[in-house]
Amino acid sequence: MPIIELHNVSKEYGRTKVLHDVSVSFDKGEFVSVVGHSGAGKSTIVKLLTCEEVPTRGRIIVAGRDITQLKPKELPYYRRKIGVIFQDFKLLPQKTVYENVAYALEVCDYPNADIKKRVSKVVELVGLSHRVHNYPNELSGGERQRVAIARALIHSPKILIADEPSGNLDPVNTWEIMELLYRINRSGALVILTTHNKTVVDRLKKRVVLMKGGRIISDEQSGTYVI
Ligand code: ADP
Repeated sequence: MPIIELHNVSKEYGRTKVLHDVSVSFDKGEFVSVVGHSGAGKSTIVKLLTCEEVPTRGRIIVAGRDITQLKPKELPYYRRKIGVIFQDFKLLPQKTVYENVAYALEVCDYPNADIKKRVSKVVELVGLSHRVHNYPNELSGGERQRVAIARALIHSPKILIADEPSGNLDPVNTWEIMELLYRINRSGALVILTTHNKTVVDRLKKRVVLMKGGRIISDEQSGTYVI
């Protein structure tokens, strides 16, 4: 059953058309890789799903709601329902691992005891309980990405979007992050992974949506792709 549906979505910046009439849906609990060369439109899709950008045309339905119609005051609540991680981790350098993860709850005025419980749970899930008092610059790239994943999971989202999460990681760390994403997927979340790492996608053997020039040019249920 689809939890995300894009219907004839186009995105233009001035006269530059970066998405052309894209229609695609993603099911609850799926693991989908969105692949393609740099500039293909992958990050634009992520920005539309997080409401950082609005489509020029088309509808985007998430959990039954057209998110292009959300009012500004509804955005924080919507964004809590989707976890997002990025290539550059986006951690706060002056905060510890614990504080980076807790911050997402503090801004929502959660009680302290609740924050402590939830942070411990997600930090343990990503295997970083021994690192809670460290600062980002004391961690490896793979560990930083795991902090970002912990933060993305803090509101128990049903959708996790990973936008080139391994772009800055070596192959060993990359695979550890993929295994973690896979584990999160098995616990029931839809994971949308954008990447241009062909090795990763081939090993995952999951659905692959291939983009080129702002269009989806293939959508295969398993495994490999050829650009
Ligand atoms: P990908 O993530 O696949 O590398 P993007 O979605 O980032 O691709 O970009 C798709 C195209 O949109 C690129 O040609 C890029 O230059 C263009 N683009 C992205 N953001 C903007 C913007 N704010 N203004 C103009 N063009 C943009």
